[in-house]
Amino acid sequence: MSPHYQLHTDLLNWYRHNHRELPWRENSSPYRVWLSEIILQQTRVDQGLPYYLKFVDHYPTVRHLAEADLDLVLKDWQGLGYYSRARNMHQCAQVVMDQFNGEFPKSASELAKLPGIGPYTASAIASICFQEPTAVVDGNVFRVVARLTNSNIPINSTEGKRYFATEAHHLLNPVDPGTHNQAMMELGALVCTPRNPSCPVCPLRLYCDGLKNNRVDELPVKMGKSVRRTRYFNYLVVQTDCLFIRQRLDRDVWFMLHDFPLVETEEKVNNWSEVISLFQTKYDLDLGNDTNLLDPVHEKHILSHQTIQATFWRLQPKSIRFGADSNIFEADLEDIEERYAVPILIKNYLSNLNAK
Ligand code: SF4
Repeated sequence: MSPHYQLHTDLLNWYRHNHRELPWRENSSPYRVWLSEIILQQTRVDQGLPYYLKFVDHYPTVRHLAEADLDLVLKDWQGLGYYSRARNMHQCAQVVMDQFNGEFPKSASELAKLPGIGPYTASAIASICFQEPTAVVDGNVFRVVARLTNSNIPINSTEGKRYFATEAHHLLNPVDPGTHNQAMMELGALVCTPRNPSCPVCPLRLYCDGLKNNRVDELPVKMGKSVRRTRYFNYLVVQTDCLFIRQRLDRDVWFMLHDFPLVETEEKVNNWSEVISLFQTKYDLDLGNDTNLLDPVHEKHILSHQTIQATFWRLQPKSIRFGADSNIFEADLEDIEERYAVPILIKNYLSNLNAK
């Protein structure tokens, strides 16, 4: 019998009575579990749920997703952020179709070779769908294990990641690893929360060294966060019957999404003459006479590691031509709304335009 038999029993009993009813728990096919795990990475359940339902509706099987147009997949993903996840998800579906005959591999080690599937997602699918005894270690589990073991090792250090993954593996229930993993994650989400954990009702309180040592509020320990960098985006918004947009093809934030012609600068730009000069240099912009220059609109947009200070330089030209970048094209608002995925920064800007 496992030395953690009683802990396993208490945890599973708690999970049976307290877990949230979520659609991917009712249908735990590898495709659905994979979809939910990719969508929920760095996303709250209430925010991810509508996306999960939309994806299951639009792409009921891995074949539907593999055969879908990437632009439509990105459009469906719009608003979730971290767009590389959507691109990898689409690519992963194609690999599963092409190389695995539409069936996800069954082991975590094989799953982890697929695009966009890291060790965490691989363990989740392998344990939940195929009962492989492999521990899932997401942010919630790191926190629970750090408190249970009363450990001072920073959870975001290389040593911490290794240590807590090993501890989580020691704690794993070999009889039902899939439910155990889900219970640990659910405990972190509902009880052992980052602030004000509900220790008095926690099924693991008798096993918790952090609680015994009165150190719950200090744990987990984290190393200092990296400084968020600020970037200055100058967008040229040409307001004629249509808008000039382009697809972002550089390996940068929002890859493959659409925005306006852009010049990024080291500092904030404050006047039109500088802006026109910048766009002339980058895009070989040819602006006719009698152009109506409107007041710029400033927006701040915060991403995980950077802050975007965007200025929308709006103009109404009699004639305009972009030379160097053939990627720029005209689209009307309706087209953008229906066909082209845009970052939320652009979506909000367009919504304000629409509202006027
Ligand atoms: S007793 Fe408190 S700190 Fe320990 S695992 Fe439970 S909720 Fe977390």
